[in-house]
Amino acid sequence: MLRHLDPSRELEVLAEIAQLLTQFDMQRVLGRVIRKVAGAVGATHAHLALHSNYEMDWRNIFQTDRLDVDTVYSASVGGLNTGLAGWVVRERRGTIVYNAARDERREVFGEELSKGSAIAMPLICNQDLMAVLTLLHPEARHFAESHFRLVQIAMNQASVAVHNARLENHVRSGKHQFEAVLHAVDNPMLVLDTRGKILMMNDAATRYLQIADAPFVPGIHLADLVRDDSAFERILQIIDSASGTTSRWLFKAHSELRERDFEVLMSVWENPLQGQSGFVVMMHDVTTLLELDRFKNDMLRMASHDLRSPLALISGYTDVLDMDLPDEYPTLRGYLDAIRRTTQRMDGLLIDLLRVERIQSSPLELHQPVPVTALLETVIDNTQAAAFQKQQLLDTDFHSLPDEIVADPVMIREAMENFVSNAIKYTPEGGHIVVRAYARDTAFYFIVEDNGIGIGPEHMPRLFTSFYRAKQAGTEHIQGTGVGLSLVKTVIERHQGKVWVESEVGVGSQFGFWLPLS
Ligand code: ADP
Repeated sequence: MLRHLDPSRELEVLAEIAQLLTQFDMQRVLGRVIRKVAGAVGATHAHLALHSNYEMDWRNIFQTDRLDVDTVYSASVGGLNTGLAGWVVRERRGTIVYNAARDERREVFGEELSKGSAIAMPLICNQDLMAVLTLLHPEARHFAESHFRLVQIAMNQASVAVHNARLENHVRSGKHQFEAVLHAVDNPMLVLDTRGKILMMNDAATRYLQIADAPFVPGIHLADLVRDDSAFERILQIIDSASGTTSRWLFKAHSELRERDFEVLMSVWENPLQGQSGFVVMMHDVTTLLELDRFKNDMLRMASHDLRSPLALISGYTDVLDMDLPDEYPTLRGYLDAIRRTTQRMDGLLIDLLRVERIQSSPLELHQPVPVTALLETVIDNTQAAAFQKQQLLDTDFHSLPDEIVADPVMIREAMENFVSNAIKYTPEGGHIVVRAYARDTAFYFIVEDNGIGIGPEHMPRLFTSFYRAKQAGTEHIQGTGVGLSLVKTVIERHQGKVWVESEVGVGSQFGFWLPLS
């Protein structure tokens, strides 16, 4: 028998549903909405078939696998492809079954409802069909168009709420994941706003700040938490200066037990949506790394020093033997020459190792005015003889020179000499080398050009790394350790400058650096 729904009752039900859907607990809300709709249209059974493709979403939305209403059975039916629900999935629209006995889509009806009627309605959320609601009644022609319309509007409303719940769950699970990662990280991490208020911090940070026992209150200012800590002083300075750039520095933390070295990375974060921004501070405990580095440097220094003394002895005795050796032993003299060359090469290697150790372990202390003309003259004087030996032309092109640069005089001289002596080394006899120096804008440029063997592009990326030597035709008999260029780069970068190289095999190379003129 066909019944109609009173329009005022319809509005009332919809208003109640709208009210229900404003609540956040989807698990209960959806069940209640279905019960209300089922009640309003007089259905005896309601059945919500959930699409298995969205199993995760449903699980998140309901948090349990079952709805807690007795009128809804079977809350989790996958593979919606047969019967009435299957039809709704395929057609993506609702339908009324006036008489189940005469409808071929009746699979959903059990024995008891086999002569009844039904309304089936999809729940479409953001284009995805996520579920099908089927309302049943044991009598044929129980449901009317007005019932259908009510169910349709209610399901549309419900889909908005499900959509919101999905978004909410998405955000919440993203937040949980982020927090899990944040707390799993063993290094102290803090998220600050632009003024230095702490928005978030991980467990390692609370341990570091020794506030693990007190509950952390988001919004507290960093300055109120720590008073006596050099890392935080610097953080606060950066916040005050509002520089907005990423900074990285090392500092020593003094705890009761021992000193610990930290590398701090402070980077800017921005939230384009809310226009909010601030800083992320990450502290990396590098105590062990620095200890190992110190140990390596000590070993290097000791080994190099200790090896140089016996080498000097071997070299001395070789000279004595050479002097005392009668002329009729040319073969022996040849052996002595070989010993001398080898000891000289070993000594050269040790000197290079000591340079690495010296430059890398000294934190660039000298920053003094260095007269540029005198510096360049010394560089040319110290390299001229080697060029002369290879009958090379060593030209200079110095112009617009500043009177002084502020630098470590020894380190800068060695860096310049390295470029020049490399050019001499890697340029065949009779070659041409030009040393250029000038000031332009706010920088001092030093460039060495040669028409030597050049360097293949495959070597370029690693040329300035320690102990790297570009093995190519013409370099087989040239001796070296591969540390020179890496030291030049270290020194120049410590002076806030930059190195570069351009080269072509068989044509020549150009090595250069610039230093800022303060
Ligand atoms: P070393 O000269 O002791 O090998 P460097 O660090 O000074 O070490 O140079 C690294 C490598 O770069 C050299 O082995 C060489 O292959 C290449 N190189 C450096 N300068 C030049 C140059 N002027 N011409 C060609 N190759 C060069």
